[in-house]
Amino acid sequence: MRTGTFQEDFFHDTQVIPGLLTSTGAGDISERVFSNVDMVDLDAYDKVVAFLSGGKDSVSMILKLIDAGIDLSKVEAWHHSVDGRESDGNFMDWPCVEDYCVKLCEALGIPVYFSWLKGGFKGEMLKENAISQPHIIETPTGIKVLERNAKSSKKATRLMFPQQSASLATRWCSSALKIDVARRGLSNQDRFNHSNILVISGERREESANRAKYYQLEPHRSDARVAKRTQRHIDHWRPVLNWSEADVWTSMEKHGILAPVPYRLGLGRSSCQFCIFSSDRIWATMRHYFPTRFQEIADLENRFGVTINRSKLSVSQLADNAKPIEVDDPSALAQAMSTEYTLPIFADSDNPWFEPMGAFSSESCGSY
Ligand code: SF4
Repeated sequence: MRTGTFQEDFFHDTQVIPGLLTSTGAGDISERVFSNVDMVDLDAYDKVVAFLSGGKDSVSMILKLIDAGIDLSKVEAWHHSVDGRESDGNFMDWPCVEDYCVKLCEALGIPVYFSWLKGGFKGEMLKENAISQPHIIETPTGIKVLERNAKSSKKATRLMFPQQSASLATRWCSSALKIDVARRGLSNQDRFNHSNILVISGERREESANRAKYYQLEPHRSDARVAKRTQRHIDHWRPVLNWSEADVWTSMEKHGILAPVPYRLGLGRSSCQFCIFSSDRIWATMRHYFPTRFQEIADLENRFGVTINRSKLSVSQLADNAKPIEVDDPSALAQAMSTEYTLPIFADSDNPWFEPMGAFSSESCGSY
């Protein structure tokens, strides 16, 4: 249970926190957490780093900032490239998602920076008696390679897909490919030192029992506000944590932003294309429309002798259990396979806004 001061509890109930979340002085910042803060004082921060997956929730959290009148020159988007950039083609993620983020950010007028674990998902999964690869971070002044400490890093072997679990140690893809990359990206750029940074991400409580317990505002794990050398104050805010899915689509429609490709194909989430949490129907859909990539996953699962699904059914057996979604949007299907995003970002008279087939879908296809 959080223990805050009277002043904090007061603001907790008023939705907007004037000034910064905490003082920059010494103290136990682990207690500076807030369950419900639907708006923060955006003027109190020098920079806003928006973790942009390219899905509707992360897009709508940026729209919420725009609605609040944020100075967009303070905002930058970060996208964590799940498959890295070292191999040709995608293994787990949608080929179009990176360029979608580029085109979306261009349209919104904010920069986007990419970061990844060298070798991406497949490289980490095939790790055998080796230390992890470096993180690679795109910055305003170029690419930074964040090497591992060979002396303190332990060698390890994976040789299996991440397992379906709330635990980030077992479901290692979220931590190795996103959370750790972000943490080191924030900790290893001097431009964030002696600054007040707001990191935002698009989780929603409605998505799962696990996310229902998230704090809406808390110090980010890269926060170093009490360290004299860095004085890096980083708060982590979840702007749409209390939004319903209807709220998200309403915001997208209000801003005229067309649904990203996965929703147009009938998926309810825009996570990795072949997310380990996919339902039988999503596996069947992926096998039907993307057979070569599906087969690579099926072959690796077979090679490891450990299934992705906890039921011990292989992805092929799961796909056998269901019928694929009947996709009725050929332009979205063609776009899904291309690394160049050519569909419009905004609705116009030739491309009116519409609610995609995947809206309000209950098929599982993303992390919780
Ligand atoms: S979307 Fe699914 S497969 Fe991708 S990182 Fe998250 S949990 Fe892992």
